[in-house]
Amino acid sequence: MQNRREFLTAMAVGSSWLAVGGWPSILSATEKAFTLPKLPYSEEALSPYISAKTISFHYGKHHQGYLDKLNELVAGTDKAGLSLEQVIVAAHEKQETAIFNNAAQVWNHTFYWNSLHPKGGGQSPAEFLEVLEGSFGEFEVFKKEFTQAALGQFGSGWVWLVQVGEKLQIVKTGNAETPIAQGMSPVLTLDVWEHAYYLDYQNRRADYVAAFLDKLVNWEFALGNLAKG
Ligand code: MN
Repeated sequence: MQNRREFLTAMAVGSSWLAVGGWPSILSATEKAFTLPKLPYSEEALSPYISAKTISFHYGKHHQGYLDKLNELVAGTDKAGLSLEQVIVAAHEKQETAIFNNAAQVWNHTFYWNSLHPKGGGQSPAEFLEVLEGSFGEFEVFKKEFTQAALGQFGSGWVWLVQVGEKLQIVKTGNAETPIAQGMSPVLTLDVWEHAYYLDYQNRRADYVAAFLDKLVNWEFALGNLAKG
């Protein structure tokens, strides 16, 4: 099971030699500062809740597209040697919209793939359930509030479970916005851009959200993301 720190490390590997070498100018057009981590399962693994066709486009075209654009935008700039998280925070602060949007979407999607599991969903394991109940009272209240946030996000965006101190909170973000730019600590996410569900559910976002909660949530990943203390 990959936790958040491990996959972020994996995401940073592609750029680490630049940070060590400090010679971004030798980056040729074909070499990439950032790379996409492999999907943590096969493209068919989430079917029938999310089809191979959706995953193929979503990972292979959308996620890859954000990555390619990001590499284009940072090549030869002061951001070329930074970690992905550092790029996100710096671009957010300086309101460098194009770099922020692409960097955040690369990060958000990797976090999303890890928030899903072929055998996920349903009742949370006891250890995580305790934290959910401590924050929302009952599991059903968590589900209801998460669903309302997902349906209430007007247009494109994301719904997140984040940790704030001892408690979990549900937040939604528009377009590429990400909680890590605001110093929050994400635990789970659901992509509610139409490209995430339209081929399988058309306009029925509620059915996609229900499938996520009932069949796909990666509770182990969520548990691994909790700050220990
Ligand atoms: Mn997406």
